[in-house]
Amino acid sequence: MNANPAGWRPSMPDPGPCAEAGETVTGNRALMLEERLIFEIGDGETCGVDLPDPAADATNRLGGLARTSPIGLPGLSEPETVRHYTRLSRQNYAIDCGIFPLGSCTMKHNPRLNEKVARLPGFADLHPLQPETTVQGALAVIDELATWLLTLTGMPAVAMSPKAGAHGELCGILCIRAALEARGESREVILVPESAHGTNPATAAFAGFRVEAIPAGPDGRISLEALTGRLGPDVAGLMITNPNTCGLFERDIATICDALHDAGGYVYCDGANFNAIVGRVKPGELGVDAMHINLHKTFSTPHGGGGPGSGPVVLSEALAPFAPLPMVLRNEDGSYRLVEEESAGDDLPESFGRMSAFHGQMGMFTRALAYMLSHGADGLRQVSGDAVLNANYVLRQLEDVLEAPFAASGPCMHEALFGDGTLAKGVSTLDIAKALIDEGFHPMTMYFPLVVHGAMLVEPTECESKAGLDEFIAALHSIAERAAAGDLSLTQAPRYAPRKRLDEARAARSPVLTWQEPGQA
Ligand SMILES: *Cc1c(COP(=O)(O)O)cnc(C)c1O
Repeated sequence: MNANPAGWRPSMPDPGPCAEAGETVTGNRALMLEERLIFEIGDGETCGVDLPDPAADATNRLGGLARTSPIGLPGLSEPETVRHYTRLSRQNYAIDCGIFPLGSCTMKHNPRLNEKVARLPGFADLHPLQPETTVQGALAVIDELATWLLTLTGMPAVAMSPKAGAHGELCGILCIRAALEARGESREVILVPESAHGTNPATAAFAGFRVEAIPAGPDGRISLEALTGRLGPDVAGLMITNPNTCGLFERDIATICDALHDAGGYVYCDGANFNAIVGRVKPGELGVDAMHINLHKTFSTPHGGGGPGSGPVVLSEALAPFAPLPMVLRNEDGSYRLVEEESAGDDLPESFGRMSAFHGQMGMFTRALAYMLSHGADGLRQVSGDAVLNANYVLRQLEDVLEAPFAASGPCMHEALFGDGTLAKGVSTLDIAKALIDEGFHPMTMYFPLVVHGAMLVEPTECESKAGLDEFIAALHSIAERAAAGDLSLTQAPRYAPRKRLDEARAARSPVLTWQEPGQA
């Protein structure tokens, strides 16, 4: 069915019964138009390109199967199309619009230099099936990036192929499983602290392990007693995040690693929070066996909204032989080879197998290496220092109005964690997040980690200036004051967003993915 009657053109939308005095007919808020669906503004008659009329006998070529009814696709002219999608894109929030304080996600500025480097034709136009001899420069970049990662982490080996943090977790856990199998053991349990990111237990379960939670102590760190009390011959390993998701450094990490090794297990470190310690702490010296590095967090590179990531995994001597393919190796003459097949001679006889079809993410590799080289070792050290300083500033400026459950445990690392303890009855963490949207800020991470009730996790990153932080803090402080005073108007936020409160659970569980002409539902 044609979406719209022929000749129908967009008219002004009905302002609806809710339009108040002073609101505009277009929904305009300072050049932000309320953009309707393309089905509502397009018609079946308009086309953005000039197409020749089909030859009279064209339908014969389809053996009588040619469509006779209109296809129902909305058409727009080229400028209308450009405007439609550009307007929609302006409804996105991005790190280039303002602070993106999502805790755990490290949403940092991506320097434009990275983009320039990633767009060099020699990198951007590579094809994954090009002959090895024609991609030596790209393999050298991967090798150089690998060297930086090994140096920064103090580890002896790295698998560059995992495509995201969660993929890196799977890589590390599969290395642990392969190492146990090589020892002739089949340990079943992976221990995971209560505060862990959801991907940790999901990874362990996906790899066939049974997951057991280890509680946190009152200071927000893993309970050493509970952990050592649980170690035994059935424990394959521990997945621990350091700094942890409460924003605290696990001070007992070396003792924890020793205890795991003494009990015959391995330590997987979730390295998503490496931004807090890069240039200062080498995980290899603490005794971890595997750790993924979210290149798209610690080393800039744009992410979010499902954009590409990259999660290389550094490995200890014990796990290195089991690293997955594909793998870049250096030949004696200084050239590189890409090992893709398990049968490829003696290169990696104990590899657990192939992790991905192609080596990528090349775009993330070039951006991350550009970031490292432009910062240098001293610059990366300053990154972690500034990130931690900014988070502590946020924590101390807000602890008078928001519950800061671990503020007494000392300074935080790169993120500030708050609970909902000061909010009056009827106001929730969700309302605070929605009210931040009205202030023009992307909300913080909420309801994570689970160990804090109504958690709000703010990660400013090192990129924010004091002036920028002060603006954000002033907004959040005022919202928190209203929440403590029981201002129930917060439950109506956001007022100024193009969309108000969505039923997010319903949107995820029963999404409506097709447009239906009004009245035809
Ligand atoms: C982001 C994150 C992950 C997962 O990384 P992805 O790249 O999103 O798969 C795992 N653990 C922690 C603590 C994280 O913040």
